[in-house]
Amino acid sequence: MRILQDENFEILKSTVTSFPELIESNIVNHCEKLGVIDGEPECFGLTVHQAALDFDEDVEQLMLESLGYSNFTVKGFEAFKKLVFLGDGDCPHCGGDLETEMEGGKMYQHDHDSEPYHTGTEVHRCTNCNEYV
Ligand SMILES: [Zn+2]
Repeated sequence: MRILQDENFEILKSTVTSFPELIESNIVNHCEKLGVIDGEPECFGLTVHQAALDFDEDVEQLMLESLGYSNFTVKGFEAFKKLVFLGDGDCPHCGGDLETEMEGGKMYQHDHDSEPYHTGTEVHRCTNCNEYV
């Protein structure tokens, strides 16, 4: 799992003074250890807040445990709650796996042994959220 690199992640990073480059792995590792996230598609796209609620974990506690110190600003905490978990796939929306589909055009196959070929355009669809990317 990874964390969406959005404005909230940037805010959190700017409030953290030591090892900001470890924020993502620290949060993901800690949440995986607790079982708040498990790498299954159900947790793709969940915010830290939602994931913690589903698991009955205290978000503040979670933040302190994953980042390891206690002088967070309110702004940093608000940003932490809104962080979004993504899967390890290529979908920019949820981190799901992408599937290649052909759109338009026609499919040709000369005989049974040859590979079919397609004159359409390749499009990529996420197998988890169904978005085209
Ligand atoms: Zn997706």
